Amino acid sequence: MTLRDIGEFGLIERIAARFSTVGTEDGSLGIGDDCAVLSRNRDELDLVTTDLLIEGSHFLRDAISPRLLGRKSVAVNLSDICAMGGECRSAFLALALPGELSVAWIDAFFDGVQERLREAGVKLLGGDTTRSNGPIVIQFTILGSVSPAHLKLRRTAREQDLICVTDCLGDSGGGLRALLEGVARNSAVEYLIERHLDPCPQLAEGAWLAASSDVHAMMDISDGLDSDIRRIMEQSRVGARIEVEHLPLSSQLREVAAEQAWSAWELAVSGGEDYVLLCTVAPERHAALAEAFQRRFGRELRAVGRITDRPGQLVYLRDGVPMDPSKLGFDHFRTE
Ligand code: ADP
Ligand code: MG
Repeated sequence: MTLRDIGEFGLIERIAARFSTVGTEDGSLGIGDDCAVLSRNRDELDLVTTDLLIEGSHFLRDAISPRLLGRKSVAVNLSDICAMGGECRSAFLALALPGELSVAWIDAFFDGVQERLREAGVKLLGGDTTRSNGPIVIQFTILGSVSPAHLKLRRTAREQDLICVTDCLGDSGGGLRALLEGVARNSAVEYLIERHLDPCPQLAEGAWLAASSDVHAMMDISDGLDSDIRRIMEQSRVGARIEVEHLPLSSQLREVAAEQAWSAWELAVSGGEDYVLLCTVAPERHAALAEAFQRRFGRELRAVGRITDRPGQLVYLRDGVPMDPSKLGFDHFRTE
C-alpha cells in the first residue's frame, strides 16, 4: 500500500489516530479542524494553522506573479483562522528558495505578503530560511485567537441544519482550468483567473457569522464543496444533501462555462480554492440571519442543502432528483 492508495485524508486520519488530542477537558483541539485550538484562559482560545505551498504542486513560477503568490500564501492561512471564528494575530514564515531566484522576485513576493498581512492587521514575527536545491517552498504559520463563545468547529453540525455558503463557488476552479487550457482572455475569463490567483479570505464574514449562535458548524472551502462538506459530515457524524440548482454561480463562471462547454456546477462542487465559508445554520433561524447578512455584506447567505441523519451519506439532488456527480474533490495524492 502506498500513499497514493490511502490519499491525503487517509494519511491525516492515520496521523490523527496516533496523536489524538480531540476533546481534551480544557477545550483544546488537535488534528481535524481548520486550526488547532489551544486553551490559555477562560476568556480566550489560541488558534494555530499552517499550510505548505510547493512550486510545481501548488503553483507554477511562470503562471503567478511573485506579488500574487505572496498574497495567496498569506490568504489561505488567514482563511483557516477566520473559518474558526477567530481573529488573526501573528505570522511566521518558513521559506526554501533556490539560489538562482532574483532578489527582485523575492522583494515582489514580500510586497504581496505585506499587503495581505497589513489588511488583516497581522505582524510577521519570525520564521526560517534555507536554500532549496529544487522547488520554491513556502510555509506560513498563522496564530489567532477567539473567544470560546465564538469558536466554530467542523464537528458541531446538527441534523436538519441548512448548509450555507457565503459567496459564489467554482470561480477559482474555473480560473485554474482557463489557465491550464489556455482559454482566450476576455473580461469574464480574467475575473475567474483573478479569483484563482488572488483569493480573498472572508475575514469580516467569518467574524460576523462567529458572533451568531445560530451558526453551528463552520469551515472554509479549500478543497471543494464535495470534499469539504465530507469533513463536516465525518466530524459531526451526520449526512448531507446538496441541491445543485441552488449552488451560487457567478455570471462570469456561467458565461465562460457556456462558451467552453464546461459544467459550471461540477466546478462549483469540486473546483476548490474558493476560500468562501461553508457553515450550517439552524433552519428556523436562516431567514433572519440571511436577511441580516444581506444587509451587512450585500450578498446572499445561500442555503445549498441540508444536514441529514444518515452519517456518511452525501446525496446530490437536481430539482429533487438524486444524481451522481462524476468528479469529486481534489486530493493531493490520489490525483497526482
Ligand atoms: P485545511 O484544508 O483547512 O488547511 P487540511 O486538510 O490541510 O486542512 O488539514 C486537516 C487537519 O489535519 C488539520 O487539523 C491539520 O492541522 C491536520 N494535519 C494535516 N497534515 C498534518 C500533519 N502532517 N501532521 C499533523 N496534522 C496534520
Ligand atoms: Mg480550512
